[in-house]
Amino acid sequence: MPTTLADAVAAVERLWPLEGAEAWDSPGLIAGHPDAELRRILLAVDAVAATASEAVEVEAQLLLVHHPLLLRGVTTIAEDTAKGAVLARLVRGGCALLAAHTNADVVEAGTSAVMAARLGLQGTRPIVPNPADPSTGLGRVGELPAPVTLGRLARALAALLPPTAQGVRVAGDPEQELRAVALCAGAGDALLAHPLVAAADVYITSDLRHHPASEAREAAFARSGPALVDVSHWAAEWLWLETAAEQLAGELPDVEVVVSELRTDPWDFAVV
Ligand SMILES: [Zn+2]
Repeated sequence: MPTTLADAVAAVERLWPLEGAEAWDSPGLIAGHPDAELRRILLAVDAVAATASEAVEVEAQLLLVHHPLLLRGVTTIAEDTAKGAVLARLVRGGCALLAAHTNADVVEAGTSAVMAARLGLQGTRPIVPNPADPSTGLGRVGELPAPVTLGRLARALAALLPPTAQGVRVAGDPEQELRAVALCAGAGDALLAHPLVAAADVYITSDLRHHPASEAREAAFARSGPALVDVSHWAAEWLWLETAAEQLAGELPDVEVVVSELRTDPWDFAVV
């Protein structure tokens, strides 16, 4: 029996159960027929023109992304809209679209957990544990196996992540010694005031805006608080795709699972 899109949807729900998603989120199947035969899956962070075209070109029957394309309501998928054009490209190319978003953030091998593992953190636990299963939840805190300076940690992150225009931005003394690391792959400013983040030596996340970052640094100067490391949102989540691909391939042995190498970080260059 050939593997179908329905088999992939079931596998995705086993790996990243929908109950784990935040209430505002909209993960799951966005386009595609459940009975469609599936031989190849392309994984990407974003469903954009470039990744939709790549999915069709590599003859994938499913584009699995982290960010839901239709998170907020739309009233048209006309092809002179960007989202309509992406959907039309996929549908005409025989490729379904499926998103695993916050449901893939919280699991034991989710976006933040993968980053924590790649940094070698030990004794990791969620920043916001799920009451039903405290081994899962948003963000991770853990300890570096030995103290490392902030400068070295930033360079290690830059080496780990795919290159982007923003690189790795840091607020703090490069010589500061670190041991306790808090991190949240994706936009994590909502966790800045969390006691586990405030108690860490450094907080690694993405999309830190001026005011939350400034206030967190002022609090750190006044009392104590973490150094901040701001990495590309896309890069942080792209890191998870390899793990996701391995897990998915384990669930769907007859399907080839490919990770997109295209950079869908929206920023192209920085001038400093
Ligand atoms: Zn994200």
